[in-house]
Amino acid sequence: MVFNTFHRRKDGSFYPVEVHLQLIQYMGKNLCVAFVIDITEREAMERELREQNKVLSVITEYAHDAIIMLDSEGCITFWNPAAENLLGYSKEEVIGAELHGLVINDEKVYQLYKEGFKKFRQTGKGPVIGKTIELKAKHKKGYEIFVELSLSAVKINDTWHAIGVLRDITERKKFEELIYKQSITDSLTDIYNRRFLTQMLEKEINRTKRNGKAFSLIMFDLDHFKKINDNFGHAIGDIVFKKVAETVKKRIRKTDCFARWGGEEFILLLPETSISNATKLAEELREHISNMNLPIVGYVTASFGVTQFNEQDTVDSILFRVDDLLYKAKKEGRNCVKSD
Ligand code: GH3
Ligand code: MG
Ligand code: MG
Repeated sequence: MVFNTFHRRKDGSFYPVEVHLQLIQYMGKNLCVAFVIDITEREAMERELREQNKVLSVITEYAHDAIIMLDSEGCITFWNPAAENLLGYSKEEVIGAELHGLVINDEKVYQLYKEGFKKFRQTGKGPVIGKTIELKAKHKKGYEIFVELSLSAVKINDTWHAIGVLRDITERKKFEELIYKQSITDSLTDIYNRRFLTQMLEKEINRTKRNGKAFSLIMFDLDHFKKINDNFGHAIGDIVFKKVAETVKKRIRKTDCFARWGGEEFILLLPETSISNATKLAEELREHISNMNLPIVGYVTASFGVTQFNEQDTVDSILFRVDDLLYKAKKEGRNCVKSD
Protein backbone atom coordinates (compact mmCIF):
# COMPACT_ATOMS: atom_id res chain seq x y z
CA MET A 1 0.00 0.00 0.00
CA VAL A 2 1.29 3.46 -0.91
CA PHE A 3 -0.12 6.78 0.27
CA ASN A 4 0.92 10.39 0.68
CA THR A 5 0.61 12.26 3.94
CA PHE A 6 2.42 14.75 6.14
CA HIS A 7 4.80 13.98 8.96
CA ARG A 8 5.75 16.23 11.80
CA ARG A 9 9.28 17.10 12.73
CA LYS A 10 10.47 17.39 16.30
CA ASP A 11 10.15 21.18 16.00
CA GLY A 12 6.46 20.83 15.10
CA SER A 13 6.76 21.68 11.37
CA PHE A 14 5.18 19.42 8.75
CA TYR A 15 6.72 17.95 5.61
CA PRO A 16 5.16 15.86 2.81
CA VAL A 17 5.95 12.16 2.64
CA GLU A 18 5.19 9.13 0.51
CA VAL A 19 4.60 6.08 2.70
CA HIS A 20 5.01 2.49 1.46
CA LEU A 21 3.38 -0.01 3.85
CA GLN A 22 4.14 -3.71 3.63
CA LEU A 23 3.04 -6.67 5.73
CA ILE A 24 5.77 -9.20 6.39
CA GLN A 25 6.10 -12.37 8.45
CA TYR A 26 9.00 -12.28 10.84
CA MET A 27 9.76 -15.07 13.23
CA GLY A 28 6.15 -16.26 13.08
CA LYS A 29 4.75 -12.81 13.68
CA ASN A 30 2.87 -10.51 11.31
CA LEU A 31 4.73 -7.24 11.08
CA CYS A 32 3.94 -4.02 9.28
CA VAL A 33 6.96 -2.25 7.73
CA ALA A 34 6.72 1.36 6.60
CA PHE A 35 9.18 3.00 4.16
CA VAL A 36 8.79 6.77 4.36
CA ILE A 37 10.21 9.05 1.66
CA ASP A 38 10.50 12.80 2.16
CA ILE A 39 8.98 14.26 -1.04
CA THR A 40 9.40 17.98 -0.26
CA GLU A 41 11.77 18.50 -3.19
CA ARG A 42 9.83 16.33 -5.61
CA GLU A 43 6.62 18.24 -4.86
CA ALA A 44 8.35 21.55 -5.36
CA MET A 45 9.65 20.39 -8.74
CA GLU A 46 6.23 19.11 -9.78
CA ARG A 47 4.66 22.37 -8.72
CA GLU A 48 7.20 24.31 -10.76
CA LEU A 49 6.58 22.09 -13.77
CA ARG A 50 2.82 22.59 -13.47
CA GLU A 51 3.35 26.34 -13.27
CA GLN A 52 5.60 26.29 -16.32
CA ASN A 53 3.08 24.22 -18.25
CA LYS A 54 0.34 26.65 -17.30
CA VAL A 55 2.39 29.63 -18.52
CA LEU A 56 3.27 27.80 -21.72
CA SER A 57 -0.28 26.87 -22.50
CA VAL A 58 -1.46 30.44 -21.82
CA ILE A 59 1.21 31.73 -24.24
CA THR A 60 0.28 29.29 -27.01
CA GLU A 61 -3.48 29.68 -26.42
CA TYR A 62 -3.39 33.45 -26.67
CA ALA A 63 -0.58 33.92 -29.18
CA HIS A 64 -1.59 35.75 -32.36
CA ASP A 65 0.76 33.54 -34.37
CA ALA A 66 -0.07 29.98 -35.25
CA ILE A 67 2.16 27.57 -33.35
CA ILE A 68 2.43 24.07 -34.77
CA MET A 69 4.58 21.13 -33.78
CA LEU A 70 5.40 18.17 -35.99
CA ASP A 71 6.92 14.82 -35.15
CA SER A 72 9.73 13.28 -37.19
CA GLU A 73 7.18 11.91 -39.69
CA GLY A 74 5.79 15.39 -40.36
CA CYS A 75 2.58 14.64 -38.46
CA ILE A 76 0.98 17.30 -36.30
CA THR A 77 1.38 16.90 -32.55
CA PHE A 78 0.50 20.43 -31.46
CA TRP A 79 -1.92 23.01 -32.88
CA ASN A 80 -2.86 26.21 -31.08
CA PRO A 81 -6.10 28.24 -31.53
CA ALA A 82 -4.31 30.76 -33.81
CA ALA A 83 -3.39 27.85 -36.13
CA GLU A 84 -7.05 26.89 -36.21
CA ASN A 85 -7.94 30.47 -37.02
CA LEU A 86 -5.30 30.81 -39.74
CA LEU A 87 -5.77 27.51 -41.57
CA GLY A 88 -9.37 26.64 -40.70
CA TYR A 89 -8.79 23.19 -39.21
CA SER A 90 -9.68 22.45 -35.57
CA LYS A 91 -7.15 20.74 -33.32
CA GLU A 92 -9.24 17.57 -33.30
CA GLU A 93 -9.19 17.43 -37.10
CA VAL A 94 -5.45 17.75 -37.51
CA ILE A 95 -3.64 16.05 -34.64
CA GLY A 96 -1.85 13.08 -36.20
CA ALA A 97 -2.42 14.29 -39.78
CA GLU A 98 0.48 15.11 -42.08
CA LEU A 99 0.67 18.91 -42.13
CA HIS A 100 2.13 19.55 -45.55
CA GLY A 101 -0.37 17.33 -47.33
CA LEU A 102 -3.06 19.58 -45.86
CA VAL A 103 -1.62 23.02 -46.48
CA ILE A 104 0.66 22.81 -49.54
CA ASN A 105 -1.15 23.27 -52.81
CA ASP A 106 1.75 23.15 -55.20
CA GLU A 107 2.85 19.60 -56.06
CA LYS A 108 6.45 20.70 -56.78
CA VAL A 109 6.79 22.45 -53.43
CA TYR A 110 5.29 19.37 -51.76
CA GLN A 111 7.89 17.08 -53.32
CA LEU A 112 10.69 19.46 -52.25
CA TYR A 113 9.33 19.46 -48.73
CA LYS A 114 9.24 15.65 -48.65
CA GLU A 115 12.88 15.48 -49.66
CA GLY A 116 13.79 18.10 -47.05
CA PHE A 117 11.89 16.29 -44.33
CA LYS A 118 13.70 13.02 -45.01
CA LYS A 119 16.97 14.76 -44.19
CA PHE A 120 15.42 16.48 -41.19
CA ARG A 121 14.25 13.14 -39.76
CA GLN A 122 17.83 11.89 -39.63
CA THR A 123 19.80 15.01 -38.79
CA GLY A 124 17.44 17.66 -37.40
CA LYS A 125 18.74 19.89 -40.19
CA GLY A 126 16.99 21.12 -43.29
CA PRO A 127 17.04 23.97 -45.80
CA VAL A 128 14.45 26.01 -43.89
CA ILE A 129 15.27 25.03 -40.30
CA GLY A 130 16.34 28.08 -38.33
CA LYS A 131 15.09 30.42 -41.04
CA THR A 132 12.06 32.57 -41.72
CA ILE A 133 10.53 32.04 -45.13
CA GLU A 134 7.46 33.29 -46.96
CA LEU A 135 5.16 30.82 -48.65
CA LYS A 136 1.62 30.24 -49.79
CA ALA A 137 -0.56 27.96 -47.68
CA LYS A 138 -3.96 26.53 -48.43
CA HIS A 139 -6.82 27.28 -46.05
CA LYS A 140 -9.31 24.48 -45.29
CA LYS A 141 -11.82 26.29 -47.51
CA GLY A 142 -9.44 26.04 -50.46
CA TYR A 143 -8.22 29.60 -50.87
CA GLU A 144 -4.56 30.54 -50.60
CA ILE A 145 -3.03 32.71 -47.92
CA PHE A 146 0.45 34.17 -47.70
CA VAL A 147 2.26 33.12 -44.54
CA GLU A 148 5.61 33.77 -42.96
CA LEU A 149 7.02 30.61 -41.41
CA SER A 150 9.82 30.29 -38.85
CA LEU A 151 10.92 26.72 -38.26
CA SER A 152 13.09 25.32 -35.51
CA ALA A 153 14.12 21.81 -34.55
CA VAL A 154 14.00 20.16 -31.12
CA LYS A 155 15.05 16.68 -30.09
CA ILE A 156 12.53 14.95 -27.84
CA ASN A 157 13.19 11.38 -26.66
CA ASP A 158 15.86 10.98 -29.31
CA THR A 159 13.68 11.93 -32.28
CA TRP A 160 13.61 15.25 -34.08
CA HIS A 161 10.52 17.42 -33.92
CA ALA A 162 9.87 20.64 -35.80
CA ILE A 163 8.22 23.71 -34.29
CA GLY A 164 6.68 26.11 -36.77
CA VAL A 165 5.43 29.63 -36.07
CA LEU A 166 3.19 30.93 -38.84
CA ARG A 167 1.95 34.46 -39.39
CA ASP A 168 -0.64 35.64 -41.87
CA ILE A 169 1.03 38.18 -44.17
CA THR A 170 -1.64 38.28 -46.89
CA GLU A 171 -2.40 41.96 -46.31
CA ARG A 172 1.30 42.90 -46.22
CA LYS A 173 1.89 40.97 -49.44
CA LYS A 174 -1.02 42.68 -51.17
CA PHE A 175 0.35 46.05 -50.10
CA GLU A 176 3.88 45.16 -51.23
CA GLU A 177 2.54 44.01 -54.60
CA LEU A 178 0.57 47.22 -54.97
CA ILE A 179 3.60 49.36 -54.14
CA TYR A 180 5.76 47.34 -56.54
CA LYS A 181 3.19 47.59 -59.34
CA GLN A 182 2.95 51.34 -58.81
CA SER A 183 6.73 51.67 -58.91
CA ILE A 184 6.95 50.07 -62.35
CA THR A 185 3.78 51.47 -63.91
CA ASP A 186 3.03 54.71 -65.72
CA SER A 187 -0.04 56.03 -63.92
CA LEU A 188 -1.57 57.73 -66.96
CA THR A 189 -1.49 54.84 -69.43
CA ASP A 190 -1.19 51.90 -67.02
CA ILE A 191 1.69 50.41 -69.02
CA TYR A 192 5.28 50.06 -67.73
CA ASN A 193 7.34 53.14 -66.96
CA ARG A 194 10.80 54.19 -68.09
CA ARG A 195 12.56 52.75 -65.04
CA PHE A 196 11.10 49.27 -65.55
CA LEU A 197 11.87 49.26 -69.25
CA THR A 198 15.48 50.20 -68.57
CA GLN A 199 15.77 47.31 -66.09
CA MET A 200 14.22 44.90 -68.57
CA LEU A 201 16.53 46.12 -71.29
CA GLU A 202 19.56 45.41 -69.09
CA LYS A 203 18.26 41.92 -68.33
CA GLU A 204 17.46 41.26 -71.97
CA ILE A 205 20.96 42.29 -73.06
CA ASN A 206 22.47 39.86 -70.53
CA ARG A 207 20.11 37.10 -71.60
CA THR A 208 20.86 37.61 -75.26
CA LYS A 209 24.59 37.47 -74.54
CA ARG A 210 24.00 34.06 -72.93
CA ASN A 211 21.53 32.44 -75.34
CA GLY A 212 22.32 34.37 -78.51
CA LYS A 213 18.67 35.04 -79.34
CA ALA A 214 18.60 38.66 -80.43
CA PHE A 215 15.81 41.01 -79.46
CA SER A 216 14.50 44.16 -81.11
CA LEU A 217 13.35 47.57 -79.94
CA ILE A 218 10.64 49.80 -81.31
CA MET A 219 10.40 53.45 -80.30
CA PHE A 220 7.51 55.60 -81.43
CA ASP A 221 6.35 59.15 -80.86
CA LEU A 222 3.02 60.74 -81.70
CA ASP A 223 3.17 63.29 -84.49
CA HIS A 224 2.48 66.98 -83.92
CA PHE A 225 1.20 66.34 -80.47
CA LYS A 226 1.75 69.90 -79.34
CA LYS A 227 -0.98 70.91 -81.78
CA ILE A 228 -3.40 68.43 -80.22
CA ASN A 229 -2.74 69.87 -76.78
CA ASP A 230 -3.00 73.42 -78.10
CA ASN A 231 -6.20 72.78 -80.02
CA PHE A 232 -8.08 70.55 -77.58
CA GLY A 233 -6.38 70.96 -74.21
CA HIS A 234 -4.11 68.79 -72.14
CA ALA A 235 -6.91 66.59 -70.75
CA ILE A 236 -7.98 65.53 -74.24
CA GLY A 237 -4.31 64.96 -75.09
CA ASP A 238 -4.09 62.58 -72.14
CA ILE A 239 -7.06 60.58 -73.43
CA VAL A 240 -5.31 60.21 -76.80
CA PHE A 241 -2.28 58.68 -75.01
CA LYS A 242 -4.42 56.21 -73.20
CA LYS A 243 -6.21 55.14 -76.36
CA VAL A 244 -2.96 54.71 -78.27
CA ALA A 245 -1.47 52.68 -75.40
CA GLU A 246 -4.58 50.46 -75.24
CA THR A 247 -4.46 49.81 -78.98
CA VAL A 248 -0.79 48.84 -78.94
CA LYS A 249 -1.22 46.68 -75.84
CA LYS A 250 -3.88 44.63 -77.60
CA ARG A 251 -1.57 43.82 -80.51
CA ILE A 252 1.57 42.69 -78.68
CA ARG A 253 2.63 39.45 -76.99
CA LYS A 254 2.62 38.83 -73.24
CA THR A 255 6.41 38.50 -73.32
CA ASP A 256 6.85 41.92 -74.94
CA CYS A 257 7.55 44.84 -72.65
CA PHE A 258 5.65 48.00 -73.52
CA ALA A 259 6.51 51.23 -71.71
CA ARG A 260 5.90 54.93 -71.79
CA TRP A 261 9.35 56.38 -72.28
CA GLY A 262 8.32 59.95 -71.50
CA GLY A 263 5.95 62.59 -72.88
CA GLU A 264 4.25 60.98 -75.85
CA GLU A 265 7.11 58.61 -76.63
CA PHE A 266 6.76 54.86 -76.20
CA ILE A 267 9.13 51.88 -76.37
CA LEU A 268 8.47 48.24 -77.11
CA LEU A 269 11.04 45.63 -76.13
CA LEU A 270 10.51 42.47 -78.17
CA PRO A 271 12.43 39.44 -76.91
CA GLU A 272 13.61 36.84 -79.43
CA THR A 273 12.39 38.98 -82.33
CA SER A 274 14.31 39.71 -85.52
CA ILE A 275 14.43 43.19 -87.01
CA SER A 276 12.27 42.13 -89.96
CA ASN A 277 9.49 40.86 -87.67
CA ALA A 278 9.82 43.92 -85.44
CA THR A 279 9.54 46.18 -88.51
CA LYS A 280 6.42 44.34 -89.66
CA LEU A 281 4.89 44.82 -86.22
CA ALA A 282 5.83 48.53 -86.23
CA GLU A 283 4.14 48.93 -89.65
CA GLU A 284 1.05 47.23 -88.34
CA LEU A 285 0.95 49.43 -85.24
CA ARG A 286 1.52 52.56 -87.33
CA GLU A 287 -1.45 51.63 -89.46
CA HIS A 288 -3.63 50.81 -86.47
CA ILE A 289 -2.90 54.12 -84.79
CA SER A 290 -3.52 56.10 -87.97
CA ASN A 291 -6.88 54.34 -88.47
CA MET A 292 -8.19 55.12 -85.00
CA ASN A 293 -11.00 57.63 -85.10
CA LEU A 294 -10.76 59.30 -81.71
CA PRO A 295 -13.59 61.31 -80.15
CA ILE A 296 -13.12 65.09 -80.55
CA VAL A 297 -9.56 64.78 -81.88
CA GLY A 298 -10.25 62.61 -84.93
CA TYR A 299 -7.14 60.96 -86.42
CA VAL A 300 -3.58 60.91 -85.07
CA THR A 301 -0.37 59.44 -86.46
CA ALA A 302 2.95 58.25 -85.03
CA SER A 303 6.53 57.83 -86.27
CA PHE A 304 8.59 54.72 -85.55
CA GLY A 305 12.23 53.70 -85.14
CA VAL A 306 13.10 49.99 -85.13
CA THR A 307 16.42 48.33 -84.37
CA GLN A 308 17.87 44.98 -83.39
CA PHE A 309 20.43 44.23 -80.66
CA ASN A 310 23.98 43.68 -81.85
CA GLU A 311 26.81 42.15 -79.86
CA GLN A 312 28.56 45.43 -79.06
CA ASP A 313 25.41 47.10 -77.78
CA THR A 314 24.93 48.58 -74.33
CA VAL A 315 21.68 49.96 -72.92
CA ASP A 316 22.72 53.46 -74.03
CA SER A 317 23.93 52.52 -77.51
CA ILE A 318 20.79 50.64 -78.53
CA LEU A 319 18.56 53.40 -77.12
CA PHE A 320 20.59 56.03 -78.94
CA ARG A 321 20.24 54.12 -82.26
CA VAL A 322 16.48 53.62 -82.00
CA ASP A 323 15.97 57.26 -80.99
CA ASP A 324 18.03 58.33 -83.99
CA LEU A 325 15.90 56.16 -86.31
CA LEU A 326 12.75 57.71 -84.88
CA TYR A 327 14.23 61.16 -85.54
CA LYS A 328 14.88 60.11 -89.15
CA ALA A 329 11.26 58.96 -89.50
CA LYS A 330 10.15 62.40 -88.28
CA LYS A 331 12.46 64.08 -90.78
CA GLU A 332 11.14 61.95 -93.60
CA GLY A 333 7.65 63.30 -93.13
CA ARG A 334 6.29 61.39 -90.08
CA ASN A 335 3.68 58.56 -89.98
CA CYS A 336 6.37 56.11 -91.16
CA VAL A 337 8.77 53.41 -89.89
CA LYS A 338 12.57 53.60 -90.08
CA SER A 339 14.57 50.49 -89.26
CA ASP A 340 18.24 49.60 -89.22
P1 GH3 B 1 6.62 65.70 -83.44
O1 GH3 B 1 5.75 65.29 -84.55
O2 GH3 B 1 7.91 66.23 -83.92
O3 GH3 B 1 6.79 64.67 -82.41
O4 GH3 B 1 5.88 66.93 -82.77
P2 GH3 B 1 5.32 67.04 -81.34
O5 GH3 B 1 4.48 68.23 -81.25
O6 GH3 B 1 4.68 65.79 -80.92
O7 GH3 B 1 6.67 67.27 -80.58
P3 GH3 B 1 7.32 66.52 -79.39
O8 GH3 B 1 7.13 65.09 -79.54
O9 GH3 B 1 8.72 67.04 -79.26
O10 GH3 B 1 6.53 67.13 -78.20
C1 GH3 B 1 5.90 66.44 -77.21
C2 GH3 B 1 4.66 67.17 -76.79
O11 GH3 B 1 3.83 66.21 -76.19
C3 GH3 B 1 4.90 68.22 -75.79
C4 GH3 B 1 3.70 68.21 -74.94
O12 GH3 B 1 2.76 69.17 -75.36
C5 GH3 B 1 3.08 66.85 -75.19
N1 GH3 B 1 3.08 66.06 -73.98
C6 GH3 B 1 4.14 65.49 -73.37
N2 GH3 B 1 3.73 64.85 -72.25
C7 GH3 B 1 2.39 64.98 -72.16
C8 GH3 B 1 1.38 64.54 -71.23
O13 GH3 B 1 1.63 63.89 -70.25
N3 GH3 B 1 0.08 64.86 -71.51
C9 GH3 B 1 -0.24 65.60 -72.62
N4 GH3 B 1 -1.51 65.87 -72.84
N5 GH3 B 1 0.68 66.04 -73.48
C10 GH3 B 1 1.98 65.76 -73.27
MG1 MG C 1 5.69 64.01 -80.82
MG1 MG D 1 7.97 63.50 -78.14
